[in-house]
Amino acid sequence: MPVRSDLRNVAIVAHVDHGKTTLVDAMLWQSGAFRIGSEKTDRVMDSNDLEREKGITILAKNTAVRRGDMVINIVDTPGHADFGGEVERALMMVDGVVLLVDASEGPLPQTRFVLRKALAARLPVVLVINKTDRPDARIDEVVDETYDLFLDLDADEEQIEFPIVYCASRAGRASKNKPGNGEMPDHENLDPLFDVLLEAIPAPEYTEGAALQAQVTNIDASPFLGRIGMCRVIEGTITKGQQVAWMKLDGTVQRTKITELLITEALDRVPVESAYAGDLIAVAGMADITIGETLADVETPVALPPITVDEPAISMT
Ligand code: GDP
Repeated sequence: MPVRSDLRNVAIVAHVDHGKTTLVDAMLWQSGAFRIGSEKTDRVMDSNDLEREKGITILAKNTAVRRGDMVINIVDTPGHADFGGEVERALMMVDGVVLLVDASEGPLPQTRFVLRKALAARLPVVLVINKTDRPDARIDEVVDETYDLFLDLDADEEQIEFPIVYCASRAGRASKNKPGNGEMPDHENLDPLFDVLLEAIPAPEYTEGAALQAQVTNIDASPFLGRIGMCRVIEGTITKGQQVAWMKLDGTVQRTKITELLITEALDRVPVESAYAGDLIAVAGMADITIGETLADVETPVALPPITVDEPAISMT
């Protein structure tokens, strides 16, 4: 199968406070995503107001890190509880997972919960041991605890052979070699992490000449565009202004026009003319677009398998 060698889609999984935001910020920073003169201290990932207020991450969304010709889409996963099958839906967008674990605290319950789902989806994992610089780091034990966790979750031999990258995210440093407890990784930047991600996370596959199929995995709203559907393009090409078959959950099919098509650049959604198999997109133009629906070619519309959306476990009031 041909692959999008220029693209990787990866979900990041971490217990709260293990350093997910710090790591993604550092990846963006080192990829030149911040304008010169902007404040590095401005935390960028938890941009949602509610999240900022509560200091937690609620809505899965993505950040795109550009490295030369390569784009790595990093999809966030909820760090505390699962709202409406959100973890599963985030995992449907990606081809691999970064499991970020604090070098002192080790894997905690939330890590286990999401990892179980990632293993069930047979997504390859890159283990990032973060905060190696912590004076109370206990790197060997934490790596052992992570292996134990995989075994406990019935990971098979293939799944347990994950690569490990050691990070001091706050300093923006990474290494493939294990540093001493309380020490910085030997590399001055995050390049070893980028290398391992590009190597270990498969590029999205697609079928040559296939008709459009895009799966709506999340819903968002914009003051300018109204309701927007977040999708992964599974096959084919989608273009702004294109007529598509909107295959609804009730089984009906409606011909509709893509009025706006956006992709993520760093933390912003930017309009584009076209997107291709593997891309994560946002589309506008369908007032009541819903999770689980398919956007397909008008001539040969084929729906993707449905997605089950559970009722939220906790109500946010
Ligand atoms: P998140 O909840 O997973 O997004 O975690 P944050 O990125 O907000 O980080 C939680 C805390 O850990 C913050 O105070 C960070 O400054 C700190 N932190 C993150 N990475 C590192 C690191 O590599 N070393 C140390 N010592 N602290 C870190």
